[in-house]
Amino acid sequence: ITILGIETTCDETSAAILKSGRDLVSNVVHTQIDIHKKYCGVVPELASRAHAVKVAEVVKEALGNHKIDLVAFASGPGLPGGLMVGRVAAEAVSALKNVPIIGVNHLEGHLFACEFDAKEGKIAADKQLKFPLIALIVSGGHTELWYVKNYGDYKMLGRTRDDAAGEAFDKVAKLLGLGYPGGPVVAKEALKGNPEAIKFPRPMMKGTFEFSFSGIKTAVSYYLRDHKDIKKEDVCASFQAAMVETLVAKTFQAVKKYKVKNVAVGGGVAANELLKESMVKRGQKEGVDVSFVPRALSSDNGAMIALAGYKKFMFAGKFNANIRINPNMRIKNWGK
Ligand code: ATP
Ligand code: MG
Ligand code: FE
Repeated sequence: ITILGIETTCDETSAAILKSGRDLVSNVVHTQIDIHKKYCGVVPELASRAHAVKVAEVVKEALGNHKIDLVAFASGPGLPGGLMVGRVAAEAVSALKNVPIIGVNHLEGHLFACEFDAKEGKIAADKQLKFPLIALIVSGGHTELWYVKNYGDYKMLGRTRDDAAGEAFDKVAKLLGLGYPGGPVVAKEALKGNPEAIKFPRPMMKGTFEFSFSGIKTAVSYYLRDHKDIKKEDVCASFQAAMVETLVAKTFQAVKKYKVKNVAVGGGVAANELLKESMVKRGQKEGVDVSFVPRALSSDNGAMIALAGYKKFMFAGKFNANIRINPNMRIKNWGK
């Protein structure tokens, strides 16, 4: 079957066509970074408006002349205004083409995106996830650890109590005047710095699968307040090291507790090279297979939503089910 995927949860308006749950025929991404960068963060009202302005064009471009059998859209979690735009666009296409519609969880999209692989310029979902696995979803708005038994069969292990990992990168970049989004610029600066120059905290390392990153961010701001001659590259490298160490430690605590042999990492922060290197190295040491989303599909895109729609449709046979948007949506088992 051919699926149209629509993504509008945050600051990317995107649509994609996926064939047979495998071949990515198109994936159009319109990012709003230029709109939000002067605020160093996503401004919800501006985001909704920009989605409304762009969504028709993006969907039309992705659709081309393709016949579709199903429309999938991200119905949460995300910003209410953006979700509403996505739902309306999906319903309009569904009505017009007379095909069913399915709402999917944006964060499941980030996980399933690990199945995509880019070979010779072509992207296809032919790297099937191996279960059971521990999933780490690290993005601009979320940091979550799940035990995943199969598609649509989850146990939430922990989430962040305050800032998301990507948000911490964005805030530290703002403190240092490095621009937005923070992840890529902090990572680039960190390449030139010493990760052991400053000892930032590694928060909540033991006894819980919850995360807390606002403490690291505050430690960075105190460091900047208390030191006049700072080396930005050392701050970035030391901050990044603290973030990565925490994420790897927690993930492998979960691996140990649940005795799994597979890890999957998705979301915008999965583009971080040090995170990937450290996870893979730790995986090799412990005989655990670590799968990362390809960089090109780490931040928000329609492809991962189309793939999530495909999985849900095939495994759960659900469509026209619940298409209500939910800004605070949690992962839920498909059987329930
Ligand atoms: P959510 O998925 O939680 O709704 P989102 O969709 O805005 O949030 P993504 O687009 O998945 O988040 O990811 C964006 C985040 O990823 C930003 O916070 C950005 O700073 C971060 N990021 C991007 N590249 C890197 C990198 N190389 N290192 C660390 N963080 C990165
Ligand atoms: Mg984004
Ligand atoms: Fe996202």
